[in-house]
Amino acid sequence: MDQWTICSGNPGKLAELEALLPEGVVAMTHVQRGFPADLPEDGETLEANALQKARTVQHRVGGIALADDSGLEVDALAGAPGVLSARFAGPAKDAAANMRKLLGALEGVGDRRARFRTVLAVIGPWGEQLFEGRVEGTITEAPQGVFGFGYDPVFRPQGHDRTFAEMDAAEKNAISHRAQAMARLKVWLHQRVPAV
Ligand code: IMP
Repeated sequence: MDQWTICSGNPGKLAELEALLPEGVVAMTHVQRGFPADLPEDGETLEANALQKARTVQHRVGGIALADDSGLEVDALAGAPGVLSARFAGPAKDAAANMRKLLGALEGVGDRRARFRTVLAVIGPWGEQLFEGRVEGTITEAPQGVFGFGYDPVFRPQGHDRTFAEMDAAEKNAISHRAQAMARLKVWLHQRVPAV
């Protein structure tokens, strides 16, 4: 099987992607292959950013490159922060500051509906593929929980009474937007490479 490279410099995301990879796949990160942690991602959509990150790496090192771009879409904010989720409160990509800004923007707002969306871009000998996963939920009034990363403490998935940050990694990985995108990738991959 070809060499895989995961194109993510976000440690939380990386841990989840590694746990969700197709069985038997051993991957290196783009940093381990000599790229800087921050890959260019200046597209206007999750799809464009995921493809941009995967292309940057795959065109240089070959093999199979996997990139994830994710965002939190809040209905009462017309889908913001969306593709700008990482830098919502500024270029520092500070998760606590992002959550503070989000909770401030929703102060007194009754409609707390939101969704997490992940787009995975996979580029290999077969060309480019995109896979999407999404989870509907609501934004809490205050951060709750210590697990996970990013906006996990303020996102409560539909049908659950706890935030993602109150779930351990296995629980989140059973239902998350990222897991759903990866499940679609695995089905597709299995059809092309039955051994995987
Ligand atoms: P990016 O895909 O690395 O650009 O991430 C977008 C932003 O969403 C960052 O602030 C991440 O921390 C956050 N984010 C991405 N995935 C998740 C998740 O599964 N849970 C919580 N926050 C996430």
